[in-house]
Amino acid sequence: MPGKDLMHPCVDCKDAESLFTVRKRQLCRDCFIHFVGSKVNRHMSKYPRPQNLEDPCPQLLLPLSFGVSSSSLLRQLDADIQRQLNKPRPRKSYDLHILVVDPLSAAYDQSYEAVQKAFPMHTYSRVPFHSVFDYVPEMQDLMWEYAGPQFADDPSRPDQDRLAAFRAAITTATSQADVDSVLLTRLVVGFAQKAGCEAVLWGDSDSRLAAKTLAEVAKGRGAALTWRASDGMSPWGLRFEYPLRDWSKVELQQYKQACPELADIVVPDNPPSDNVLTKNLSIDELMMRYVLTQGEKYPGVMANVSRTANKLQASSSDDTPSCGLCGNIIGNVKGNSGLTASSQSGERQDTQFCYGCMRSRPDSIS
Ligand SMILES: [Zn+2]
Ligand SMILES: [Zn+2]
Repeated sequence: MPGKDLMHPCVDCKDAESLFTVRKRQLCRDCFIHFVGSKVNRHMSKYPRPQNLEDPCPQLLLPLSFGVSSSSLLRQLDADIQRQLNKPRPRKSYDLHILVVDPLSAAYDQSYEAVQKAFPMHTYSRVPFHSVFDYVPEMQDLMWEYAGPQFADDPSRPDQDRLAAFRAAITTATSQADVDSVLLTRLVVGFAQKAGCEAVLWGDSDSRLAAKTLAEVAKGRGAALTWRASDGMSPWGLRFEYPLRDWSKVELQQYKQACPELADIVVPDNPPSDNVLTKNLSIDELMMRYVLTQGEKYPGVMANVSRTANKLQASSSDDTPSCGLCGNIIGNVKGNSGLTASSQSGERQDTQFCYGCMRSRPDSIS
């Protein structure tokens, strides 16, 4: 076959025009998608294909925010499963259950419809944020003990209003983002347990993991990095996995461009406003901005942050007390000896909360 007359041939296949520059390599669309996919598939190879057709395969939960990263992860895992089904002995090594947690402010109806149409072979569920009261049975008691006697909860009100009142009682942007992220994790875990999933596949990019690592340390939650930013066992007996840890957010934005089916699914980020005062941003937002701006200049440094965090080992001791709210171990840093909040009902045994959670409490004690 005569060679094609190409201006800038792809360095891998040399058979198509290169469209993407990834890690200094000029790649065509197919080779770029293959490059991203090969690292994700390698991560997923820890789930072996079953020997027999009748053998059950594990259910894995993928929380989907309709951001670039989790949408790209779903696209790639869907392709991985298709690839397994196209083999001479077609069988999947895992099943995906996709969970969408509705944000408090916006409805994602269009994206939810588009994603089910684009990737129809998976199970989909959509729940509101306030269903944390349903999926975490101890949520009411936890909220009462955590918020303390000053916070008046009215259980006769709809869950949506109760959650809104609780969130409104938390004053700073950092604490609110911190508690939101803890509650979201608890909701996802509670859902995964009810749905019979054995692991949660988080769509965090390498940039997000680096930002999270820096933010968690700043908030006194460093001990949680063994599962908040590393592949490892969470305190609730479910594994947390981060299959996109090799890819930065900028690279995943390129991946989205290469996959037209993602155009109707991904909800664009709000552009960072220059008018927002830095003091009004949460530590999480500040760190994400920092990583995205500095990461462009020094990508290796950011990759190093998340790679180092992934090497952390969890404490092996089973009798270390853990925080009732976030599951983090207590007593790992100086000053973090665990704090006991008095119960509002006065009936339950008091729950211990970690230093990170106590810092974010409504009407935070100093
Ligand atoms: Zn190519
Ligand atoms: Zn905690």
